[in-house]
Amino acid sequence: MTASLLRVAESVAARAGRKVSPLTTSIVTEPETALADKNFLPGPVLLLGAPGVGKGTQAKALMAAYGIPQVSTGDILRANISKGTELGKAAKALVDQGTLVSDDLVNQMVADRLKQPDTRRGFILDGFPRTLNQATWLDTQLSADPNTLPVVAISIVVDYEQLLHRITGRRISPAGRIYNIYSNPPAVAGICDVDGSTLVQRPDDSEAVFVERMKTFEAQTAPVIEHYRKQGRFEEIDGDHSVEQVTAEITAALKRLRNSSDQ
Ligand code: AMP
Repeated sequence: MTASLLRVAESVAARAGRKVSPLTTSIVTEPETALADKNFLPGPVLLLGAPGVGKGTQAKALMAAYGIPQVSTGDILRANISKGTELGKAAKALVDQGTLVSDDLVNQMVADRLKQPDTRRGFILDGFPRTLNQATWLDTQLSADPNTLPVVAISIVVDYEQLLHRITGRRISPAGRIYNIYSNPPAVAGICDVDGSTLVQRPDDSEAVFVERMKTFEAQTAPVIEHYRKQGRFEEIDGDHSVEQVTAEITAALKRLRNSSDQ
């Protein structure tokens, strides 16, 4: 661990009321957790890519590996829609059509979420930022906190045809387990293997909405990827492999990016 990273770790640990062990330079957590790599301080991680590249699946894998939360703006919006909150009512039509919700609304959602103490060691942003405005807002927010590590960005790339299959074949359980009727079907069609609940297709996973979301991605989010590519703490990952392989490539990339950006 580099000196600057150690300072950040100490400051993060102090805020969390914990100690940094001088031998391992890891944050001493109590109780001990079964994380794959608890000595690694991930900091803010952006998972970028088109709809269906696997950002949600990979964010969950990273969550398990590092013990940091996934912050998915799509999930937060869907939770508000299903609860019928004011935010959900304002967003529902846009989300159903695959159109972007306003920057102010999602920025505020992210600001609120990042205030939660579970984001102290880092977090994985999934589906945000999706416009250059959101990216600039995020950069300003993060650079205002001297205890936050610089953001690192991973862009997952999968070709168009493959994405179409992944999106239109996707089925989800109420608890958020993700299946695919082509590549990862449940044992009984339409039923979750784990809890027996009925699987549903998101309204925005139809082919017509997919085409719309891809157009939005090309116009609004592709420039965000270029923005982070130019910033340098960026790697592109081929998402057309097994989930485990992609996770392994992302975790290796994160280590490289942290080593090069935090000296
Ligand atoms: P996702 O689950 O990330 O594909 O998001 C589903 C839908 O939520 C998108 O098609 C948008 O309508 C909306 N949404 C999610 N994240 C954002 C964002 N960062 N900015 C604007 N709209 C968003």
